[in-house]
Amino acid sequence: MVEQQLRSRDVEDERVLAAMERVPRHVFVPEELRGRAYADAALPIGSGQTISQPYMVARICEALSLHGSERVLDVGTGSGYQAAVLAELAGEVHTIERLPELADAARGWLEEAGYGGRVHVHVGDGTLGLPEQAPFDAIAVAAAAPELPPSLYDQLEPRGRLVVPVGKRHGQQLQLVVRSPEGPAVVRSVACRFVPLLGEEGFAV
Ligand code: SAH
Repeated sequence: MVEQQLRSRDVEDERVLAAMERVPRHVFVPEELRGRAYADAALPIGSGQTISQPYMVARICEALSLHGSERVLDVGTGSGYQAAVLAELAGEVHTIERLPELADAARGWLEEAGYGGRVHVHVGDGTLGLPEQAPFDAIAVAAAAPELPPSLYDQLEPRGRLVVPVGKRHGQQLQLVVRSPEGPAVVRSVACRFVPLLGEEGFAV
């Protein structure tokens, strides 16, 4: 997966590549899909949701430029896989999921993979961030937003980085947003397709 889907494309950050080599992705998919866990694709994880394609996880992590001590918020826990990769790259990871049944499954899978103590799973509307734990050095959003959710931007540290797919329900562009004194500095990158971010500052539920 790392060689063929990440390095051979354009993922260059060695810390990200090493992190993705360490996290056992098969633990984060339903039993019957474990044989396809390392495929170049998003896979269904129940409740109409997906574990993101490995390449998108790598691109999000790379854009966040983590060094090891950061406090990170992961919006859209899903399987918990992205949160586990972030735990390999940062100091403290909080992840928030709107569907309680997925949050429960993710807690179990994170525990099984050895990340139980390093990732804090919360249930709620992640478009509003996690005010009680803010501010964050970095925020990763793994679901598509119609526009940059203001609450997430507000919960960034100065120079903090936020990665979020922005666009329509069926097609978006991954955006890196850096908090700066002049306001959000936006860098657009790859075209992508994520499940919708549903909530107060996302798409209508
Ligand atoms: N990072 C995940 C990908 C999950 S897909 C992984 O590695 O597996 C996106 C997830 O975002 C879904 O589980 C969906 O339920 C969740 N989601 C959608 N809107 C949300 C919101 N407002 N707050 C929190 N989670 C949300």
